[in-house]
Amino acid sequence: MKSDDISIYVHIPFCLRKCLYCDFNSMAAPVSLMEEYGQAVIREIENSEDILHSRKVVSVYFGGGTPSLMPPSFFDDVLTHIKSSCHMNENCEISMEINPFTIAGAEGRTKGTGALLEPQEPAGPGERSEAMDRILGYMDAGITRFSIGVQSSKDAELAALGRIHTFRDFLKSYELIKDAGAGNVSVDIMTAIPHQTMKSLEDTLDEIISLKPEHISAYSLIIEEDTPFYSMKEEELDLPDEDCSLDMDRLVCSVLSLAGYERYEISNHALLGRECIHNLGYWEGRDYAGFGISAASRMGNHRYTNTPHIKEYIMAPGRDHTEDRILSLTDEMEEFMFLGLRKTAGICISDFYECFGSELSDIYGDIPANHVSMGYAVIEGGNLRLTPRGLEISNRVLADYLL
Ligand code: SF4
Repeated sequence: MKSDDISIYVHIPFCLRKCLYCDFNSMAAPVSLMEEYGQAVIREIENSEDILHSRKVVSVYFGGGTPSLMPPSFFDDVLTHIKSSCHMNENCEISMEINPFTIAGAEGRTKGTGALLEPQEPAGPGERSEAMDRILGYMDAGITRFSIGVQSSKDAELAALGRIHTFRDFLKSYELIKDAGAGNVSVDIMTAIPHQTMKSLEDTLDEIISLKPEHISAYSLIIEEDTPFYSMKEEELDLPDEDCSLDMDRLVCSVLSLAGYERYEISNHALLGRECIHNLGYWEGRDYAGFGISAASRMGNHRYTNTPHIKEYIMAPGRDHTEDRILSLTDEMEEFMFLGLRKTAGICISDFYECFGSELSDIYGDIPANHVSMGYAVIEGGNLRLTPRGLEISNRVLADYLL
């Protein structure tokens, strides 16, 4: 449905070291390239005034890569430019992803890691640490929500994933962020990772829940092509089997639910009122503008994605696109279903009519009713939504909505 609301995504493609499972567009880079890139992002925002002006920004998300490799001044610059290009909602949610190593791991441990961060001097008694200064700097710049990737509380599992941080780094980062006064923190965990067992996952969940973050995301590891994991042998990887992976996902949902976290999307759980506004926007079809390499934008039915090549991007930020197309009505209907049904609230059937001028049943015939009869979906209060079983096999169920 047409609205002035818009979300903004800013991609930071730098990481200290590549994790073994990661296929995101991220790289280790010298500080000079990071600075050049930061300036290019600002130029892209400046050049986008025509698409931003008259829009109301409801969320900004700095994702990566590792946004916490950038200094607070970068966030300040970006947010100042966004504010001068369009109206920013008073309660705009402004999130940044944090890699725990970049906050708490840099104290004297950077030698030999290929890290870009300067080793930090531990703070003396009564002194404020450099890490605390940086977090306060992010908050002063306007960050209202931190999303910390911990993945597991077991260092052996973190090492197997090729993560650079330890669980201690995470605990220290979390404590610093909370001590700084951050009131909205999300923690990412992973299931189906090498060496993980039901017991180790339960331990991870217990450790995280005891901290009471406002939001928890839990994603299953997917082995992607072009990653070191893809070429490793099964016995080397030591992954939980399919049944165990399913049990792990069920364990996550039941433990989080008992702890008061409501599952509002396949992989996302939140305390009451702490759902991620930014991600909800993607699932609800809100327009979004992406800045930085590989960042995607969608304005109405126009979708385009920036070049993945950093040199090309820095030369002319926002000019080169890998995808640039007008979505057909069919594309839009499919997206409405695929994205909307990821939410546990599902889709509002009358919204489908309002968006497309056709009844859901005219387009999809018996498919929703068949899903209901198979126990994969329910129709309730005017919404069609997937059941827990439907969410477990969502790939199969959603494929039925391909036109
Ligand atoms: S920190 Fe995140 S983006 Fe960077 S390599 Fe690891 S998984 Fe990929």
